[in-house]
Amino acid sequence: MKALVRKGLEAEQFFYEEVSKPNYMNNEALIKIQAVGVCGTDYHMWTGGVITDIPIIPGHEFCGIVEKVGSDVTSVKPGDKIVSRLNIGVCGTCRSCLSGNPHMCISRECPGFKREGAYAEYISIDAKQLIKLEDNVSFEEGALVEPMAIVATALLERAKIEPEDFVVVFGPGPIGLIAVQMAKIYGANKVIMIGTNVDEKMRLPLAKKIGADIVMNAQTQDIEAEIMKITGGKGADLVVEASGSEPAINSGLKVLRRLGRMCVLGLPSEQQNNISWLTAAEKSLSIIFSYSSAPWSWNTVTSMLARGVFDAKSLITHSYPLSEYKVMFDKIKKGEVVKGIFLP
Ligand SMILES: [Zn+2]
Ligand SMILES: [Zn+2]
Repeated sequence: MKALVRKGLEAEQFFYEEVSKPNYMNNEALIKIQAVGVCGTDYHMWTGGVITDIPIIPGHEFCGIVEKVGSDVTSVKPGDKIVSRLNIGVCGTCRSCLSGNPHMCISRECPGFKREGAYAEYISIDAKQLIKLEDNVSFEEGALVEPMAIVATALLERAKIEPEDFVVVFGPGPIGLIAVQMAKIYGANKVIMIGTNVDEKMRLPLAKKIGADIVMNAQTQDIEAEIMKITGGKGADLVVEASGSEPAINSGLKVLRRLGRMCVLGLPSEQQNNISWLTAAEKSLSIIFSYSSAPWSWNTVTSMLARGVFDAKSLITHSYPLSEYKVMFDKIKKGEVVKGIFLP
């Protein structure tokens, strides 16, 4: 089969080539991949910034069709349209596993990082990880389930968004844009999306289209003063930090009300040392980090897609065959892509 293989940790060490089709064990299903999302971390592998096993096939946001199943598999059958959780190799005995959080198990071997991923025609995976998709959900929409599950874990399970919350989202990348929609679905009173100059042309208008009540540019507007004005001087109930940028983190701390919550999803490119800790302490803020996705959040978001309440299509701006990976990465570099999808 054809696959995109990362062969070195330096920049641009991806090669589209022939590799052997994966075997599958008794508990596994062989999946023919139909669509796979380009995650920010995948792009940073291309630019030489993320450490993975080498060589490896990247890609972890996939959707496909079951082609074959091992002898022990009864939960899915050939022909099923599926997406897959990524909790492979987890121990099942640690506190993370036993509390329903296998995504945080230190033994986890995430496809695309520690075992072969989905930038390929096929992947084999433990059938217990698979979730069937309804017929009305497309393969491309299915490729958005993983980032949607990340946001669902963060907002619903970790930060416990409440109806009537006044929400401010920093960072209009795919995660931030998903957060805007999910906050609205869960009854947020108002959702404000904050971006910068580079987001003016595409991402901020898109945020508006998918449900943000107000969009703001932190480089041209005094967002702290404006949010205080809109909230009658009280401040926001919940900030979703999806930018990873230090000025945004500090603005987020400032615009929160006393006893407000910050839900942190953005990964800074390096350690941040100048965070306004005193502001957070004096307001008794809850700062809640969320990483990866808990198992049940996948059921929540596949249901959202099946019911048609979540607009995934508007977030997908570019799709290419896997062989055109350089075109995709070039467009991401130029800032033209919101969510890119490979169609192997
Ligand atoms: Zn991802
Ligand atoms: Zn474990």
